[in-house]
Amino acid sequence: MRLLIMGPPGAGKGTQASAVAAHFGVPAISTGDIFRANVAQGTPLGVEAKRYMDAGEYVPDEVTNNMVRNRIAEPDAQPGFLLDGYPRTLAQVTELDGMIDATGHKLDAVLVLTVDQDALVGRLLKRAETEGRADDTEEVIRRRQEVYREETEPLIAVYGERGLVVEVDGMGEIADVQQRIFAALDELDQS
Ligand code: ADP
Repeated sequence: MRLLIMGPPGAGKGTQASAVAAHFGVPAISTGDIFRANVAQGTPLGVEAKRYMDAGEYVPDEVTNNMVRNRIAEPDAQPGFLLDGYPRTLAQVTELDGMIDATGHKLDAVLVLTVDQDALVGRLLKRAETEGRADDTEEVIRRRQEVYREETEPLIAVYGERGLVVEVDGMGEIADVQQRIFAALDELDQS
């Protein structure tokens, strides 16, 4: 199973990604989490990424592409993976196509969580209180949403043309969203 999960910042991708990945027995690979781990450990990659993340900007494609390429080459990702937060630019889509083609596999589906943009800022500010992420200030949140709309939202149409998009309403309780995701993926399986 090779899946992507997409949606604006605060859509709950990370939360849902873990559950979906566990269900299919594949690793959930979050580029945001990998960057944050590198920042925490003070690696050269972390030092470079932090400058962008703190401003709500995307880390340069080259850096991100190499990181993902290495990660999905690891043994646990051979049966498949669920990517959370990648690709986020058209250039990253092309790179990912190349990485997957090279293994002789294909992408199975792109889960898109749809959410009400206004509800998102509130969610993210709440997360700032509980998790203390450096990029969860109101100003940076708004910038991340803007960058998402400009750079990443257009990817949904690209994957839509390939017939891969599975749209799920991401509003409401975590468990309800999870149920909707599994129902949508089941349908996909049968078609
Ligand atoms: P969110 O989905 O809440 O915006 P993430 O945890 O997925 O947050 O990512 C946090 C930050 O990490 C992003 O704002 C960006 O700076 C960086 N990042 C994550 N994934 C990518 C990517 N595919 N390309 C470029 N930058 C990325």
